[in-house]
Amino acid sequence: MDTILAAEPEIRLTAFLSVLAAMALWELAAPRRRRDIPRVIRWSNNLALVVIDTAILRLSFPILAVGLAVMGEERGWGLFNTIGAPYWLAVVLSMLLLDLAIYLQHVMFHAVPTLWRLHRMHHADLEFDATTGLRFHPIEILISMAIKLSLVAALGPPAVAVLLFEIILNATALFNHANINLPRPVDRWLRWIVVTPDMHRVHHSVDPRETNSNYGFNLPWWDRLMGTYVAQPAKGHEGMTIGIEQFRTTRDLWVDKMLIQPLRGPASGHALDAPALSPTEQEQPLDSQTHSSTVSDTSKRNT
Ligand SMILES: [Zn+2]
Ligand SMILES: [Zn+2]
Repeated sequence: MDTILAAEPEIRLTAFLSVLAAMALWELAAPRRRRDIPRVIRWSNNLALVVIDTAILRLSFPILAVGLAVMGEERGWGLFNTIGAPYWLAVVLSMLLLDLAIYLQHVMFHAVPTLWRLHRMHHADLEFDATTGLRFHPIEILISMAIKLSLVAALGPPAVAVLLFEIILNATALFNHANINLPRPVDRWLRWIVVTPDMHRVHHSVDPRETNSNYGFNLPWWDRLMGTYVAQPAKGHEGMTIGIEQFRTTRDLWVDKMLIQPLRGPASGHALDAPALSPTEQEQPLDSQTHSSTVSDTSKRNT
């Protein structure tokens, strides 16, 4: 066990590069949407950002989530290390709670205008592929890590659960941003257990009502439970526009522009700023589940 934990950086880097390579090949073999922007611009800048994010993260924190979980196990810190729950139960519950925390944190980054300024950079990518899943502002990465460390300290999860969670979350983020064409029946079945590219693509729609839905990165259940689930984009997957209204030039895709983006322009389009549906729109019957959650949320807000 100790050897596995000692090799954490190597294990995570190998898993990351393997999944990234697999997704890149899959995107070439079976793309879902037409590509308009040369891959070299987006890939070089999105990957440069990963290097910057990783360096800032390592320099800013003396210990990361897995290291803190090891320390918690050794010293008996946190809930699970105190109550002596069965090991398998502690592993499963820890992974579920970490995933719920990531969901809630994502909702918070959409709802608080200052946090939206940081997170909207993830949404400003003008296309949607595996490297979009890596595009996060370094300050968002630091805030996420601070939240994760607090949770690990309070919960005392088995270190293996944290390591597994980190590897799985990294892999699913690459998978559910990939520009891949999954057969519809497979997507329908798969999205009961994991967030699929079609499910997460709705979250990257330029329409704020769709941007502020489907917050899950890993398990799809939280969106269904909390009423933030939107099954499909109104304009269809080929017809929808990816990104946000505010930053739409190719120059905005460069890493220097990404880093200063939180300071540019107003914080429009966040979850509490989403345009309300007009009364006529609200009276119209809705096709299947599309927009059902957004309508009820908006009408709740209007009353
Ligand atoms: Zn988001
Ligand atoms: Zn995303």
